[in-house]
Amino acid sequence: MVALLAVLLISLASTVAVVVALQRGDERLADQKVDQQTQLVVRAIAGQARRYNEHLAQLAASLGAQAQLESSEFAATTRPLAGAVLPGVTGVAYVVPAEQSEISGVQSYWRARGVSGLELRPAANGSSHLFLVIRQSFDGEPVSPGTDLSVVPEAVEALSAARRLRQVITSRPYVLLKDAGTGDEPKGPGFVLAAPVFATSPPAENGRFRGWVLLGVRGTEFLHQAVAADAGRSSAVQLTSVTGGDQTLMARWVPDSRVDPRITARNRIINVPLSSWRVTVAPTAALLAHRNPPADVIAMLLGAFITMLLMALTAALVTSRERALRQVAAATAVLHEDIRRREQVEAQLRRRKAELKGFAGIVAHDLRGPLARISGYIDFLSDDLGSGLDDQNRDFLDRAGKAARQMSTLVDDLLGFSVADNQRITARQVDLKRLVDDLVGEGFSRPAAVEVGELPVIGGDETLLRQVFANLIGNAVKYTDPAREPWVRVSSRPVHDGWRIDVEDHGIGIPDSQKEAVFTAFTRADGSEDYPGTGLGLAIVHRIVERHGGEVRISDNPGGGSRFHLTFPARTPAEMSLPEAS
Ligand code: ADP
Repeated sequence: MVALLAVLLISLASTVAVVVALQRGDERLADQKVDQQTQLVVRAIAGQARRYNEHLAQLAASLGAQAQLESSEFAATTRPLAGAVLPGVTGVAYVVPAEQSEISGVQSYWRARGVSGLELRPAANGSSHLFLVIRQSFDGEPVSPGTDLSVVPEAVEALSAARRLRQVITSRPYVLLKDAGTGDEPKGPGFVLAAPVFATSPPAENGRFRGWVLLGVRGTEFLHQAVAADAGRSSAVQLTSVTGGDQTLMARWVPDSRVDPRITARNRIINVPLSSWRVTVAPTAALLAHRNPPADVIAMLLGAFITMLLMALTAALVTSRERALRQVAAATAVLHEDIRRREQVEAQLRRRKAELKGFAGIVAHDLRGPLARISGYIDFLSDDLGSGLDDQNRDFLDRAGKAARQMSTLVDDLLGFSVADNQRITARQVDLKRLVDDLVGEGFSRPAAVEVGELPVIGGDETLLRQVFANLIGNAVKYTDPAREPWVRVSSRPVHDGWRIDVEDHGIGIPDSQKEAVFTAFTRADGSEDYPGTGLGLAIVHRIVERHGGEVRISDNPGGGSRFHLTFPARTPAEMSLPEAS
């Protein structure tokens, strides 16, 4: 559960981090786009204003170069301007200053210059006038010359600055006279570009101020033409005139796409002589619709998918781990139960074995006396009856005697087996050489050649060790073909931490597969069926050697027969902590 929660939290945190990073990247990209867009728009507006300015400056220069300006020449000179396609330009006019007293003179002068029917219409107030003496319309709407511009402060300001500074001046915005009077829908503010005309010909008049040439421009059309290509659907543009503390909205470009409120609009200033234009560019959704498909949404979906996948994997891992733990616990329980049962069985076995050995010992002990008596009586019978017995009865008596002797051997062996296992060990120094020599001196079941080499003195129980060698040498003699004289050799050599003693013969040998089994009680090897025995002798040997801390093994004698090797640790009797009888 904790693991699942941790995976969920880590995965969600990573997803959010990726989405935030992508969004930041998106915002940066959007900012860059808006900056680029703003730069394009500002360049377009400034470029168009400069173009108008240059056209007008050229026109002023051309007019200044004419010795005497005629209406027809004005029309001819301005014709290229009409053809230059200057969007928003309503027309061009020639303006001259006139004091109140000069009005009629100026009027007749210009009538004489071809402006037929010129009627100067001075504004009521003021003595200085600025008359539009020639007017040419570019937008198809009829105009009549004679208007006095001195009532329009924006125009007056621009004209006087143009004359003073001898350059083209852009006026502050105002509703052009041409548009002010019309009853149609309002045209919105515009501005004029005023260029002073200074005579350059004839030489006598060089540098004399003659008047102004004026270009009327409608703000909306000017702006629309300038930005339509660049702003298009991608941004809204606003052109504001900023002069001193005054701010006048000149025109707006409203795209057919919604402005994106998340991105701040950009403001840039274009300086035109004597005033400034502020261009405001606000990006629309169309400009920012670059995320296709939007990376953050994809990242979010991918994050959710990975989160689910990780959770499923973790859940699977947790479940399989729990299942494995349950299986281990179940297997452990079964194992514990097994061990408990086994221990029970082993304890039971040990009890049974002890009981059996005790029983065998008791039985053997109790049988020994009666058996000895039976044998004794059989011997009496055969001695007393002697030759009086017929052959059959003698045979019966011999068989009974033989069976009694066999039983006696078995009882002796059983007793020996019981003693080997149960008798308390009395450890002392035992001279094996003397022990074996004694045994040899007592003789065996038949004559045999027994070689006894040097043998060590070891710590142990003399009675039990005697039993070991009696069994081994006895077997060596017994398990030799009756046709051959048995040969036995008992030898020793020191080994690491003790002694090794070999008892070897040239007898019938023991098959490899039974070399271990013959140490088990009542086990006899194949091929020994013709030799008497109970299968207890080697079990007794094994147990006694084991209780002395040693080992016994069998190998083949290279010269034919068997070789028994015993090892005994080199310890003094005091050092011996021999296993107790079981
Ligand atoms: P047994 O009373 O039969 O001799 P042992 O326990 O002494 O019982 O020996 C077990 C069996 O091992 C024997 O029956 C015999 O088959 C085999 N065996 C023991 N000693 C020898 C030997 N020296 N050579 C060949 N076989 C032997």
